[in-house]
Amino acid sequence: MTDTPTRTCSACRSALDPDATRCPQCTQRQPDVVLTRDLPGRVAGGVCAALAHHFSWDVTLMRVLFVSSIAVTGGVAFWVYLAMWLMTPFRAHERAPLARFFDAAGNLFTSPNQQPLPTRE
Ligand SMILES: [Zn+2]
Repeated sequence: MTDTPTRTCSACRSALDPDATRCPQCTQRQPDVVLTRDLPGRVAGGVCAALAHHFSWDVTLMRVLFVSSIAVTGGVAFWVYLAMWLMTPFRAHERAPLARFFDAAGNLFTSPNQQPLPTRE
């Protein structure tokens, strides 16, 4: 029994790398890609690295755009960064920090007699 996940391109059906965001054959962006922060080139929260990987941009370019957008927006971009950090899981198949917070907060109000809420994959 082999349970190796095989991915194929949604457009041309050619075989894909497990963590590829685009098809190397037809350059189609893959719809099943989840934004994650566990990537090479991450410095702080990993949001710039995640966005750069997702859009196939250079990490340095993304970081320069982010830092200059903080100056242009008067700091609003920092809060956008923080919000994206909260909503982006570190690895695929992990829960985002905000989702884990709500899970923990929900467990505070669950009495020991109640059945635990079903966890989503
Ligand atoms: Zn393709």
